[in-house]
Amino acid sequence: MSEKKAAPAPGDRVVIGLTFGNSNSSIAHTVDDKAEVIANEDGDRQIPTILSYVEGEEYYGQQAKNFLVRNPQNTVAYFRDFLGKDFKSIDPTHNHASAHPQEASGTVSFTIKDKEGEEADPSTLPVSEISARYLRRLVGSASDYLGKKVTSAVITIPTNFAEKQKAALVAAAGEADLEVLQLISEPVAAVLAYDARPEGEISDKIVVVADLGGTRSDVSVVASRGGMYTILATAHDYEFAGFALDKILMDHFAKEFLKKHGGKDPRDNARSLAKLKQESEATKKALSLGNNASFSVESLSEGVDFASTINRLRYETIARTVFEGFNRLVESVVKKAGLDVLDVDEVILSGGTSHTPRIAANLGYIFPKTTTILAPSTTPTAINPSELQTRGAALQASLIQEYEADDIDQSTHAAVTTVPHVNNAIGVVSLSESGEEVFIPIVQPETAVPARRTVHVAAPKDGGDVLVKIVEGNTHIKVTKPEPKANGDSKAAKVEDAADSDEDSDFSDDEEEEEEEKREKVWKIGSTLAEAAIRGVKKGGKVEVTINVNADLTVVVTTREIGAKGGVRGTISA
Ligand code: ATP
Ligand code: MG
Repeated sequence: MSEKKAAPAPGDRVVIGLTFGNSNSSIAHTVDDKAEVIANEDGDRQIPTILSYVEGEEYYGQQAKNFLVRNPQNTVAYFRDFLGKDFKSIDPTHNHASAHPQEASGTVSFTIKDKEGEEADPSTLPVSEISARYLRRLVGSASDYLGKKVTSAVITIPTNFAEKQKAALVAAAGEADLEVLQLISEPVAAVLAYDARPEGEISDKIVVVADLGGTRSDVSVVASRGGMYTILATAHDYEFAGFALDKILMDHFAKEFLKKHGGKDPRDNARSLAKLKQESEATKKALSLGNNASFSVESLSEGVDFASTINRLRYETIARTVFEGFNRLVESVVKKAGLDVLDVDEVILSGGTSHTPRIAANLGYIFPKTTTILAPSTTPTAINPSELQTRGAALQASLIQEYEADDIDQSTHAAVTTVPHVNNAIGVVSLSESGEEVFIPIVQPETAVPARRTVHVAAPKDGGDVLVKIVEGNTHIKVTKPEPKANGDSKAAKVEDAADSDEDSDFSDDEEEEEEEKREKVWKIGSTLAEAAIRGVKKGGKVEVTINVNADLTVVVTTREIGAKGGVRGTISA
């Protein structure tokens, strides 16, 4: 155990944002309040979370990843999720082609040769030590880049990280001489990265963050209300993630190899399998950018070289079931949050797999046109999905670096985790042009409290008394079925109207059959919370309604005529 060093004084800190994933890690810092991702000495911004030892020499990142082919037994990969976990509860699926996890001294450990010399005994290292060594490399590379020793970091973690996992991560960072300023949840970090852009709006919105990684996909629904983030629902999936796409391509090329050359299946030999995996992943990434990608491996099996190509359409066909899985996952979380796709303002695609154009396009089909899909292939201004979390973490780090460690916990934990919030919307009833009562939301559902919102309600055209009714509101989804197919005379009339050639009219008929029902979000007026009458509002005047929801969920409503003195104020208890 190394000596516990005192945390640096706030003024002496050098801070970074850090993402420590099972597949990749990345580091960022801020320059003039803007986040910048740091490349390590290999020039990588996505740094594989892998350590490898050759002749006592330690390699990390891409160099270590390359050793998965030639030195798998001394290479440790996919270990982040094992931190702070019991051996019995871990899933070692992804470690079959590198050092295997085992139970030693009550924790998950790896036995590797990390010392020089043929006779040197292998070491059995707990996952905490592996993590500390890896984090030390990241800190080293960030320090080299910045030209000063990095002392502290905000680190992103999945939303389902248990207290024990968090504690283990903080301890591992401590071993690497890195103060953890704060652990923030990965989806909130992604939202922060977008909200911090100059054009980013801190408006009230519902955001779905689809974090599609290598070994897991984590989807969250986040309510962003006046800069406060509340996580409404989450789901974690270990089946639909990047490795499943690698697997599709590995099988594809292995079969093609067998068809062409016969001989032994490259999937039956560890080294061939590692090569197949590495090249399949590269081909997969190339298919995110181009319509064609090549695949080429020297001595894939029994000394036979293999080269091939694949186009995007073919890839999308063979990977269809995996792609569909991503859609189902996202849909399920929206439902879990008690929301409808129509409630979602933005979908942020985060994580390496989010570069895949087909995934972004497919998500576009389940959300209405009004929902923004933030992915490189759908929105030119989208931020690189692989960098979102680390950017968010860096921004948060620069924001809180001046605080004493004790104050950080108190002042910011609530803001990025679940905080008390109103369940229903609060708003006013207004009359529509056709004289119907309609609900105008002022405080959106899931708004974190305390909150304060103001709206202006127009007085009747000629002025006069304005009755302001404050009510709760709920949304429901109104489904309008397409017009039943017209028959008889009216059909004939329609066809005539619609088209001037027979061909076209056939077409429009088909289209009609396929027309989908129309779904829209409508507000339902709930229970009345308060009523206030403002008398004698002048012609063209407006009434200002302010709603304050206190931390204890009591509501204070203030109404006044704009430009006039006085007003009505009342408190409603929760
Ligand atoms: P994990 O889910 O294992 O914790 P992570 O969060 O560490 O993953 P990410 O870097 O977010 O990892 O995602 C890694 C995955 O993204 C890998 O499967 C990788 O192949 C894939 N990936 C990276 N870039 C691209 C790309 N351009 N196109 C398609 N997939 C990509
Ligand atoms: Mg991840």
